[in-house]
Amino acid sequence: MNHSGERYLAFPAWCRAHYGRRLYRVSLDAGMTCPNRDGTLGTRGCIFCDAGGSGDFAIAYHGQPIGEQDLIGHVPADIRGNAIAYFQAYTNTYAPVPVLRRLYECALQDDFFAGISIATRPDCLPQPVLDLLQELKTAWPQKFIWVELGLQSVKEESARWMRRGYELPVYSQAVQALHAREIPVIVHVIFGLPGESREDMLADIRFLNRDPVSGIKIQLLQILDHTDLAELWRQGSIPVLTQEEYVDIVSEALGWLRSDIAVHRLTGDGPAELLLAPLWSRNKHAVLNAIRHALKEKNIRQGCYLKGETHEQSS
Ligand code: SF4
Repeated sequence: MNHSGERYLAFPAWCRAHYGRRLYRVSLDAGMTCPNRDGTLGTRGCIFCDAGGSGDFAIAYHGQPIGEQDLIGHVPADIRGNAIAYFQAYTNTYAPVPVLRRLYECALQDDFFAGISIATRPDCLPQPVLDLLQELKTAWPQKFIWVELGLQSVKEESARWMRRGYELPVYSQAVQALHAREIPVIVHVIFGLPGESREDMLADIRFLNRDPVSGIKIQLLQILDHTDLAELWRQGSIPVLTQEEYVDIVSEALGWLRSDIAVHRLTGDGPAELLLAPLWSRNKHAVLNAIRHALKEKNIRQGCYLKGETHEQSS
């Protein structure tokens, strides 16, 4: 493991260790929908999800070649060959297999991209989609395919409150099915959900340590305008974390996180123009600096609390 002097395995260091260079996500909106939006499971989506399906920065993508001119203001210039086609908006395995095949193949054959990362729900990975991912992985050995799963929380009350729409075992089955096909899994969790204690949030980390996941995004619960969560927040029924609380919990969580799991994100990432609360989260650099400072002050390194525990392992 290469921590490059960091107290946690940040995504750029993990990229350098695995690919010899830094990689950059390019967020794509491939025109998907979601079973939580189209009426299959619900119509209003997860409680925190805005109409953009969590892909507000995403570039509309229908398989066209991507070039630097498309990315002005999105990512650093000149990333040809070092970009990740990040299928972000909505549920990116929720379409007929021929549609998915065309989109994924277009991205894989575009020399702009080093690989693809597919954000989806664990209950949207049926056998034909898993077979497609395995087939593409075999056909494109020089590229990578990752899958990002929105777990958000292991607490069933939280899952019901946010209208996640699937039970916890569905997540575990999806992780195992992807791992069996050697497809790396990145898990998204949210800290600061109403009714969740510090122990509840640390329980998320302990839970995902047991599964073969390769990366994590820890996101702060942000209140975005035009969501059902925003309405509850306006009624005064949704508390939000202070920066001090968030930094304290995240630094502890990193101490409990298996040391081989790459940390892809440690802050909220909602669009500034939609963010209602907490407003301190607008300044991502300040939040990351405060987390680094807390790790140093408390002498925490990723996984340091796991020493001697059986689920501390190297991938
Ligand atoms: S699963 Fe994702 S896209 Fe669907 S409603 Fe929830 S957050 Fe939005």
